[in-house]
Amino acid sequence: MYFCDIVKPRERNYLKQVKTWHQSRDINDKACHASNYSEMMSEREAAKYPFIQAGVKLVEGLNLQLDDLTDPNYRKVLDRAAERVTEAIIQGEVSAKLAEPLTELLSYPIAVMYVTLIGEQFLSRRFALAEAVRSYNLLQQEYEDKIMQIAEDEFSWNIVKDPEYIDGTQHNLKLRFSDYLRSASGFHEPKWKLVNRKMEDGFVSLTGIEAARLIQVEVDNWVKERVSTPSKFSLPQEIQSRVDAVRKVFEENRSKLGGSRLPEEIINEAFPPCMIYCLEGLLSGRRASHMERFGLTSFLVNIGMPIDQMVSFYTDVTDFDESLTRYQIEHIAGLKGNRTRYTPPTCATLRTHGICRNMDSICKTVSHPLSYYRKKAWRIQRREKEKAKETQAETSNTTKQE
Ligand code: SF4
Repeated sequence: MYFCDIVKPRERNYLKQVKTWHQSRDINDKACHASNYSEMMSEREAAKYPFIQAGVKLVEGLNLQLDDLTDPNYRKVLDRAAERVTEAIIQGEVSAKLAEPLTELLSYPIAVMYVTLIGEQFLSRRFALAEAVRSYNLLQQEYEDKIMQIAEDEFSWNIVKDPEYIDGTQHNLKLRFSDYLRSASGFHEPKWKLVNRKMEDGFVSLTGIEAARLIQVEVDNWVKERVSTPSKFSLPQEIQSRVDAVRKVFEENRSKLGGSRLPEEIINEAFPPCMIYCLEGLLSGRRASHMERFGLTSFLVNIGMPIDQMVSFYTDVTDFDESLTRYQIEHIAGLKGNRTRYTPPTCATLRTHGICRNMDSICKTVSHPLSYYRKKAWRIQRREKEKAKETQAETSNTTKQE
């Protein structure tokens, strides 16, 4: 097994660099490397921001195998990778340890590997967000020119420098509104609503910190893309033990973080209002939008409805073609195509598509329909357990009296 097989092209390039750098340093060629200023800069920048392409061109010809990581030279890297995921689980935020840029640099793809091996969607989302927060914290310390450069080079933003004062605050940047909306649409705070922003000629005024906050969303999506597909293969003991340790931390903290497993049985009463809306629409013969069908199907897949049941459910209430319906459901379930099991869109996306309807008090505390389902199911199950206890107590009292 090549370690590079489980990481995406950019991470592969990092690995190429790191291996070569490690080898170079092994032969004490530090002076030569220290003199190569741009390489050193790339190394540090790549360590700060795992998503940048800065170091990618430095070395070609990756050949690093998974077994190479068992070399004692990589121990620190394996540990730091485990620490990154642990920080994501416990603190919800990954720290930046830049004193040893190479260790920091390589620990990112290895942390990605740990997360995909654990293969829990909740962990993947939490890790992506924690890495994104790390980038946001670092970006806040950068000059605005640097923030602009990252936004343009890595996320193709149309952003320009054009200082002005708005309500006594200096706004140095202007971002094309389409780029703005892509990142800001998920924010609930009124200040991010487009109607509350100053917009001129299609550009929205921003402070540097606000731009960094919007980049956080891009980084979150970038990392999510890389951790969303679980992987499975055998590992050398040195790595397996670290994956096991991280998995243990995750299991111990899971319920505290609200990432408890979905119930084994489907609980209809726990469906969120948006999914009830989609379901009722389907049953009443209303023409459903693509987003409604995707949202509902991915929701049902994730709460564990068997494929056959879903196929008959759809074909019984609509005139959908059975084989096409089956193919589409299996695709969403990750059994066909790119083998990714899709999760339903977030509440923000469903809201944008007009599917978030009849919100209730639980809705105010969640940002994803599956979180709603998990929360409500837990409440229902707890109520049932309490009821069962009361009934048991009553029965034993009656028996005693008799
Ligand atoms: S807030 Fe979320 S869970 Fe509630 S109805 Fe809207 S989309 Fe569904």
